[in-house]
Amino acid sequence: MLYIGCHLSSSKGYQAMGRQAVDIDANTFAFFTRNPRGGSAKAIDMDDVKRFLELSDEKCFGKLVAHAPYTMNACAADENIRRFAREAMADDLKRIEATPGNYYNFHPGSHVKQGADVGIELISKQLNDVLTEEQSTIVLLETMAGKGSEVGRNFGELREIIDRTQLKNKLGVCFDTCHVWDGGYDIVNDLDGVLEEFDRIIGIDMLKAIHLNDSMNPCGAHKDRHAKIGEGHIGADALINVINHPKLRGLPVILETPNDIDGYANEIKFLRENYSDN
Ligand code: FE
Ligand code: FE
Ligand code: ZN
Repeated sequence: MLYIGCHLSSSKGYQAMGRQAVDIDANTFAFFTRNPRGGSAKAIDMDDVKRFLELSDEKCFGKLVAHAPYTMNACAADENIRRFAREAMADDLKRIEATPGNYYNFHPGSHVKQGADVGIELISKQLNDVLTEEQSTIVLLETMAGKGSEVGRNFGELREIIDRTQLKNKLGVCFDTCHVWDGGYDIVNDLDGVLEEFDRIIGIDMLKAIHLNDSMNPCGAHKDRHAKIGEGHIGADALINVINHPKLRGLPVILETPNDIDGYANEIKFLRENYSDN
């Protein structure tokens, strides 16, 4: 089964996202858990959630991949920014239990000249402060392109964050094809080798979700500019190989390509046509 969807606006609630997903033949989706500018998040409407869960059951949705705000930086130098990151994540994880058992993806952070070691330490400290044994949500560290001082620019940095986090059973990794490619992993010519390296360094069981994006830049560019499927340096064939790879099949695939809703519908149709169901 191919679980595929795209990033949707959460402004009208869960049921609206579910319906929009069904309209474009998606059976998973991503959404921002709160406004990136901060402030308190909208309260969850449990009637809306209930209607969404019915729809999601009926349509056999896969796991959702919620996205933390980009402005959340768990390893900022400024303690106030770190406090926002900590409180926002703790609050998001509480609210998101309304739809249990899904994924919550976040960008590990930017160490802003403190060095990757300090960044890794601060990110795991936040996770140790925030993760609870009771939560049913798995928190995903996103693989990053290595733009600026981003932490998570290679599999080794993600492994170090995981190593320093106590509740490892609440952690996973989201594999963003644009970011991994920009980070210097050649998923076009050697997807097998990249996944073997992922397995050796992090463990393939930790890989829980895919962000499927083409890239406007060549491998190793550390830029992070997403392109539409087939319109970038990765190309449609390599991205089709990603969704069909035996080690990746069944994972939720989220498109974050520069598209409107019709563009997403077309990409989903194209990828479904190129997915072999056995
Ligand atoms: Fe992201
Ligand atoms: Fe992403
Ligand atoms: Zn990106």
